[in-house]
Amino acid sequence: MNEFDIIVVGGGSAGSAIAGRLTEDPTINVCLVEAGGSNKDWRVHTPGMMPFLPEFTNWYYATIPQKGLNGRQGHQPRGKGMGGSSAINAMLYVRGNAWDYDNWAAVGCDGWAFDDVLPYFKRSESNERGGSEFHGGDGPLSVSDQHSVNAGSRAFVDSAAQLQLPRNEDFNGAAQAGFGIYQTTTKKGERWTASRAYIDPVRSRPNLHVMTDCLTEKLIVQDGRVTGVQIVRGGRTETLHARSSVVLSAGAFGTPQILMLSGIGPADHIRHHNIDVVLDKPSVGENLQDHIDYVASFETESKDFIGDSLAGTARMAKAIIEHRLRRTGIMTTPYAEAGGFWSPDPDAPAPQIQYHFVPAMLEDHGREKVKGHGFSCHACVLRPESKGRVRLKSNEAGDMPAIDPAFLEDDRDIALLRAGVRQMYRIFDAPPLSDYHPRDRHPVDINDDAALDQALRNRSDTVYHPVGSCAMGPNESDVLTPRLKFRGLEGLYVADASVMPKIVSGNTNAPSIMIGERCADFIKADLR
Ligand SMILES: Cc1cc2nc3c(=O)[nH]c(=O)nc-3n(C[C@H](O)[C@H](O)[C@H](O)COP(=O)(O)OP(=O)(O)OC[C@H]3O[C@@H](n4cnc5c(N)ncnc54)[C@H](O)[C@@H]3O)c2cc1C
Repeated sequence: MNEFDIIVVGGGSAGSAIAGRLTEDPTINVCLVEAGGSNKDWRVHTPGMMPFLPEFTNWYYATIPQKGLNGRQGHQPRGKGMGGSSAINAMLYVRGNAWDYDNWAAVGCDGWAFDDVLPYFKRSESNERGGSEFHGGDGPLSVSDQHSVNAGSRAFVDSAAQLQLPRNEDFNGAAQAGFGIYQTTTKKGERWTASRAYIDPVRSRPNLHVMTDCLTEKLIVQDGRVTGVQIVRGGRTETLHARSSVVLSAGAFGTPQILMLSGIGPADHIRHHNIDVVLDKPSVGENLQDHIDYVASFETESKDFIGDSLAGTARMAKAIIEHRLRRTGIMTTPYAEAGGFWSPDPDAPAPQIQYHFVPAMLEDHGREKVKGHGFSCHACVLRPESKGRVRLKSNEAGDMPAIDPAFLEDDRDIALLRAGVRQMYRIFDAPPLSDYHPRDRHPVDINDDAALDQALRNRSDTVYHPVGSCAMGPNESDVLTPRLKFRGLEGLYVADASVMPKIVSGNTNAPSIMIGERCADFIKADLR
């Protein structure tokens, strides 16, 4: 009962795609092991409940104190339970730039150029606008237009147009640059997590075994081959055996943590935590990259924006009822409704800055509740030069790992962020957004480099896209081959956001799902 062909660890964006695709072949027996629960909860399914999700959906990680952020610790939410981070994310459907993937191929990841990955993006996608040169029309992952866009979000795009910044109706089409309204991973008004896309419709397959509430503690390695995993279920330790392979899809923090707990990674660090070294692999946990992000927040007299007031609360209460009854209205919002991609350097190969406009005041990742109405806007650096690492804090699998994204340690990142924030303020100063007469909640002289840098270091944090901590590459020292096989052990693949050699210029859910799709094909080919 505890033996399978393939064990996939982590039922998140990539893991769900892998298990769903592998079990299309009835001869492949797959066990999907997830630490959290089923996430079948109306709050998870309701896009607008994102700020009020139950605690069981989130690992609530934090970074170690960040030198580049004046010693502050960053917040690092990570999805727990089926769907992983796609169950708590902002649902924006963005693949990054074609250049990102061509660049992966250029740095030695053969088979990952844009022309190679586009068929997998299309295969995964079912776009409400239908299939086309750039989009899939009948894949498992539902992608929809927003049907209840706040007037303020449209005002943001119109204000950008006042600065001659182009409009963009499709950030995943022929060109990425420009401003517009995001498409979302939703279906008929509900959040469409990776597990709703890939697992729920095929749960009855006899060759698919989904085990929730099972924490994977470590890999079992015998004579250089991974033969299974050790899990804890209901307080009891058990072993699951893999006849063929184990796939780690526990995310950019979970995957390197499980490897190091298994004695695979930087030897000195592993020994320091009283774990027997199985394989000295210094690159495990290195190369961590994340999008550093600054949020400006403005208060308005206008109650058009989502907010906390008598009128605002009554409107939200009505909206919840509307959504429960018809799956329409304000509660279909991803909050980050509008946005854009822009470069201060006209010669940059792809946009350097991304904006997320939210028609509500946002403070401290939504953890601080603010009275009144207004809007906020994020500006993030799309290809940061700073690189950090994931390490262990202890040898307990249930403990948070030591996360160090090294935010703003490279001065090129703060220079780009400065430029991105200045451009954002120029947009705020243009009509129609300026007609709301917004009051800045954190005024700063944006023309004063030193003052702006202080504000950036005091208030910036992640926009939730950690990647790269178990990267593929062409060298023996890289963690993975470009076919996602672990270098140095048999019977082990990694597929999730951790495999990216370089962070992509956009949000990371669709790319993680694409990575899962590809891994399933690699495994099927290897099994033949
Ligand atoms: C708040 C937030 C907002 C975001 N917004 C967007 C957005 O709008 N658009 C977008 O494209 N991206 C967004 N992202 C990022 C995106 O969701 C992630 O990059 C993507 O989901 C990562 O996929 P993954 O497969 O690497 O990991 P995950 O989806 O995080 O999956 C990892 C899974 O492994 C499980 N796991 C971990 N450790 C263990 C263990 N020891 N044993 C068993 N299971 C384990 C976890 O519980 C989890 O289910 C957001 C992320 C967050 C947190």
